[in-house]
Parts: sequence; C-alpha cells; structure tokens
Amino acid sequence: NTFAEIDLGDALNDNIQNRCKYVKPTPIQRHAIPVALAGRDLMACAQTGSGKTAAFCFPIICGVLKTKSPESYGWRSPVAYPLALVLSPTRELCCQIFEEAKKFCFQTGVKVAVAYGGAPIYPQLRSLERGVDILVATPGRLTDMIERSKVSLAKIKYLALDEADRMLDMGFEPQIRKIVERLDMPPCGPRQTMLLSATFPSEIQRMASDFLQNYIFLSV
Ligand code: AMP
Repeated sequence: NTFAEIDLGDALNDNIQNRCKYVKPTPIQRHAIPVALAGRDLMACAQTGSGKTAAFCFPIICGVLKTKSPESYGWRSPVAYPLALVLSPTRELCCQIFEEAKKFCFQTGVKVAVAYGGAPIYPQLRSLERGVDILVATPGRLTDMIERSKVSLAKIKYLALDEADRMLDMGFEPQIRKIVERLDMPPCGPRQTMLLSATFPSEIQRMASDFLQNYIFLSV
C-alpha cells in the first residue's frame, strides 16, 4: 500500500516522495500500475482527480528507462522519435499532463515534450529537436507534425489515450484511428496500450476491442 512496494526504481520513487509529495497510491494507481508494469494492455474507467495521470505515466517512465539507449542523448534531430505517446483532447489537459510528467521525470534523463493546436507550431517543433522520449499531444497537432515529417511513430512502445470519451465527443476518432493504424504497421514494433475514460459507452468499448490486446479492465 505504498509506492515503495511497487517497484518503480529509486529515481522515480524519490520524485514521488520529494517533488510530488504523494504519500500512498490512489486506488487507480494501486491497481493499474502493477498491471501496466507487467506489460498488459489496460482499459481504465477513472475520473479526473483519481490520480490517473500518474497511473499511466509511472509505468511508461519505467519502460522508457529500460528501453532508452544512451546515444539518444545530445543530438539535435530533425525528426523526433518518441518512445511513448500520450494523446489527450485539449491544450489544457496536455499541459497538465506535461507539467506532472516533468516532475515525475526530474533527473531521470527521460525527456517529455508537449504538442497541441491553437498555438504556433514552431516553438513546439524546436523543443522536439532537443529530443523527446514521451510526447504528450492532441491528435490534430500530432497528425500535423507527422505529415510535416517532424515526428515519427516508428519507435513508439507505449501509447496512452487519456479522456478517450472526451476525445470522441470532440470528433477526434478518425484522427486517433489513423494514428493507431500507423502504429499497427511496420516499421512500428509491438506496443503496450492504455485507454482511459470517465465513461464506458459502446464507442469506447469498440475502441478498446480495436486498440487493445488481451487487456485488463479496471473501474474505480
Ligand atoms: P489526476 O487524476 O491525474 O488529474 O490527479 C489529480 C490530482 O491528484 C493531481 O493534482 C495529482 O498531482 C494528485 N495526485 C495524484 N496521485 C496522488 C497520490 N498518490 N497522492 C496524492 N495526490 C495525488
């Protein structure tokens, strides 16, 4: 019933205690993190405020730390190759996830970047050139960056779809499906997918069966 009991590693545990001041995991964290650390796909029904951001970020950060090669540091790359992708419906939500994820990643070497529409694309592209492991994005802006050949999904190993019901309400389903289709094709390899939604209507159930493999269902 503590974060130390879940094997998140020293750097992340230190940030959880000393930067975030989280004392113990919330119910969604207690249930989702071990399942995701074990590599399983996940469908989680959870509200804003339940601690779901950490629930999907912690396993992604652990996975990135395991996959990341040292040569991914230090080069300015014209194309970004993130290892993890977090899709979220709005600029505000993307920025919230980005700010939290940066705290979680402090001094781990894991790089987080954010991309959302309704703001100039060039500053976002410049921050991607400095390297990105975890990209937090709205579906529209991400699609734009892919079409400009500034982002490649070829190395994605982790995908989180946050507030999936809101993304559908906002009409993002076609863009999300295109993004997932790219991830299902070579050169992309196997990936772990987490789908998070406050509600579980038939459209989300369909997404879960289309995007997830042999998944665990959690509702808190
Ligand atoms: P979320 O549901 O991810 O938007 O998180 C809601 C708020 O709860 C955020 O301000 C988090 O920083 C905070 N939070 C997340 N997990 C914990 C935890 N285990 N203990 C205390 N606060 C937390």
